Amino acid sequence: MALVAFLLYILPSLPLMAQAESSVETQFECFMDDTNLPHCQTPYYTQSVSQEYLDSFEPVVFNIFFWGINEDDGANPPTFTEEHVLMNIAKLNMEYNQYNIFFKLKGWDNTSYTSTARYTNSSVLAIWFTALSNGWYDPQAFNFYVPYSFDMGSGQALTYGSTVAGTHHWSFQDPARTTILHEIAHNFDIYHTRYQFAHASGCERVTRDPADPNYNANTNGDCGITTAAVPEMQVGDVDLDECRYIGEGQDCGGNDYEIFEPDVRNIMGSRSAGCYDRFTVGQAIRMREYIGADPDAIFGPVTTTLAALYEPYKGEYIEYASDPNNDPPLFQPGFEYYFWECECQEQTPCIDPAPYEDTSFSYTNTSVLHIQKDESDYSSITHPNHTAIAIKHPHADFWPQPRKCFDNWQTPPIIGGTITLFRDGVFNSNVTITPQDSLQMNDSNLIPNLDPGLYTIKKNKGDGSVEETNILKEND
Ligand SMILES: [Zn+2]
Repeated sequence: MALVAFLLYILPSLPLMAQAESSVETQFECFMDDTNLPHCQTPYYTQSVSQEYLDSFEPVVFNIFFWGINEDDGANPPTFTEEHVLMNIAKLNMEYNQYNIFFKLKGWDNTSYTSTARYTNSSVLAIWFTALSNGWYDPQAFNFYVPYSFDMGSGQALTYGSTVAGTHHWSFQDPARTTILHEIAHNFDIYHTRYQFAHASGCERVTRDPADPNYNANTNGDCGITTAAVPEMQVGDVDLDECRYIGEGQDCGGNDYEIFEPDVRNIMGSRSAGCYDRFTVGQAIRMREYIGADPDAIFGPVTTTLAALYEPYKGEYIEYASDPNNDPPLFQPGFEYYFWECECQEQTPCIDPAPYEDTSFSYTNTSVLHIQKDESDYSSITHPNHTAIAIKHPHADFWPQPRKCFDNWQTPPIIGGTITLFRDGVFNSNVTITPQDSLQMNDSNLIPNLDPGLYTIKKNKGDGSVEETNILKEND
């Protein structure tokens, strides 16, 4: 029932909802979004451009779940692998963390979503509707869909009250593409920098001088005064080697555009694939103010704790210090991690890592493992025994306090074994084997009580391993 209500609520605004972005010059770029007047003067948007103000926003952590779309018969390989998911979670965090926006990989599924109709040439809206009716949707996460292709663009996002977006498989798999950053920004109510450029009522003019009668940067276009007035770029308007505008367009007031490299590099720009690498302060503040106001109540359900960033996305902690780590706990890439030496108190050893809140353990700044943000050997981002996790990030909630000391000295219990006596005093087959129960095997007088001779003692441990010791007991 709740689902039906949600759909009815969302349906009236459908024409506003989808935005597409293409990074292929020959493809159609954006659709639907630039016929509607922008939301610029909404009360929660201050239009501030202050870095200090931007830095004052507290950390928020959002869950994100990735869905790969397949054909009905699974004829083709999945549209992504685990490796691609990790690459994208790293991209998201490496860009958004500077605004204290964090993404926690909640999971991925590249097999369940099977629909030939949604596999190619569909829209993110149709993909989402199909997802809703089949349970391929996590209401407590951003849901990011990866079909083979869209009907237009390399990515699409639902905006005005949604945390649903996607890119086609090619953008998702390409380390150089920033499409995911662009689409998620739409979920944060960020417009294309060219927004409304062709519409007389909403177009943004070039001047940045508020005293100029032509000034409208705060009410028109993308509502941002930190992004220049730009048109939809045409082929040849941008020198992609130098990320420079070389077109000769004019704004809707007949003034030559003044478009510089930072504008060409803006992630919400167009036709500049290979250049996109930044948002402006004003765009980031708009994101944070939208998240803070949450007028569509979409961010509450998808928010998780800072502690979640210190949880592995897969793998297990070892039970005994001596166990090999065959399935080690692994942490999402995109952060700079220090795994510092730590020690828990004797009475409360950290056989499982200490809870996030518990900082009573001692630690040093000696790094057992140091991981950079762009580490691409994802299997190396693990949690060594006797270390705590420090994430290097300017906010005091992260640095320098390490968390989750894992300090496991536990050894498996001895549950029995055998004593083998070599009757000739040399290792040969002339032996007597005496089984021992756990009580006998754990007896501290086990060896002192042996008669002189050559022995092999095998201790069977609770984890299935066997510890073998050879003893030569001399005559006193
Ligand atoms: Zn877009």
